[in-house]
Amino acid sequence: MQVTFPHMGYIYVGIAAMAKWLNVGVVVPPPTSQRTLSLGVKYSPEMVCLPFKLSLGNMIEALESGADTIIMPGGLYGCRFGYYHKAQEAILRELGYDFEMVSQELGIMHMVKRITRGTPLREVITGLRFGLTKMNVLHELEQMVHKKRAVERDRGEVSRIHRDGTKAIENAADHQELKRVRQEYLQTLKNLPTVSPPIPLKIGITGEFFIAIDPFANMDMDVELGRLGAEVCRPLSVGEWIRFTPVPIILGLREKDRSHKAAMPYLSRNVFGDGWQSVGEKVLHARDWDGLVHVEPFGCLPETMARNIMPSIKDGLPVLNLIFDEHTAKAGVINRLEAFVDMLRKKKRRQVKVCV
Ligand code: SF4
Repeated sequence: MQVTFPHMGYIYVGIAAMAKWLNVGVVVPPPTSQRTLSLGVKYSPEMVCLPFKLSLGNMIEALESGADTIIMPGGLYGCRFGYYHKAQEAILRELGYDFEMVSQELGIMHMVKRITRGTPLREVITGLRFGLTKMNVLHELEQMVHKKRAVERDRGEVSRIHRDGTKAIENAADHQELKRVRQEYLQTLKNLPTVSPPIPLKIGITGEFFIAIDPFANMDMDVELGRLGAEVCRPLSVGEWIRFTPVPIILGLREKDRSHKAAMPYLSRNVFGDGWQSVGEKVLHARDWDGLVHVEPFGCLPETMARNIMPSIKDGLPVLNLIFDEHTAKAGVINRLEAFVDMLRKKKRRQVKVCV
């Protein structure tokens, strides 16, 4: 069996680690590229959302590289994500590929059993733990990268360390090596020479999960904002998603729970996808962020609702809304980010002057 899965940011690192730990063959799709997007667009329904097209492109490239089993979440979601795997399976079969589609529709344990085929539960849990630990380390590294990129002295140095660190985490064979890699890269980032920007900015990114976390889909927005001297804060992350810490879960202290609570006066129920959280993040971080970039794929209903509710939240937090599809051009995204950062700086400078 050769298992594969779509990229979705760095999630693939954790899944590959779990599979390798359990001696399951893995085919990581080639990095998402223009070819991936073209394949996805060619074979997807025209109006379906961008994450569908990109993940379909990943699947085609992985099947071309020898994969025979695809892992894709699916099941009871309130938006199209719930039936992605069914539609993608039908498209791939029509294209003539021979493979098995595995989703957690019948429960996560059912999915794990189908992939691990008789591996003792203890082993499975150990493998899961290793994969989750890798994703947590990636999350830690990414948070430090966001802080440092905004103030780095030598342009591009943080991105280089981030790339190398991600590769080293991906290649770490056991917990001990992972611990060493974590310390090494966090320390390297801490020791980097920095400059102080005249007006430091904190910009939140929220919106649809896939676009918010996937660097190809959002056109390296983190890097562009960092280049403009803004620290990126992104509560939607794989680390937040997979962290299992019982006390915050029981007490409702996770970012997700807090944002849902904050959204209540404006949106009192789950609209699925990440729409509820998007509204809540704006309320929750109105004081600690200087601006918010809200990202959504074209045609995404939950985020369309969130986008239309946001102007009614009169908290003074400026919002830049960016809609992505296969026609979105990077130059246009950069242009809008630059104008947004400029506007935030002017606003902050005025506030500083008033205080002085
Ligand atoms: S949240 Fe939006 S973009 Fe994501 S699958 Fe659902 S409808 Fe599509």
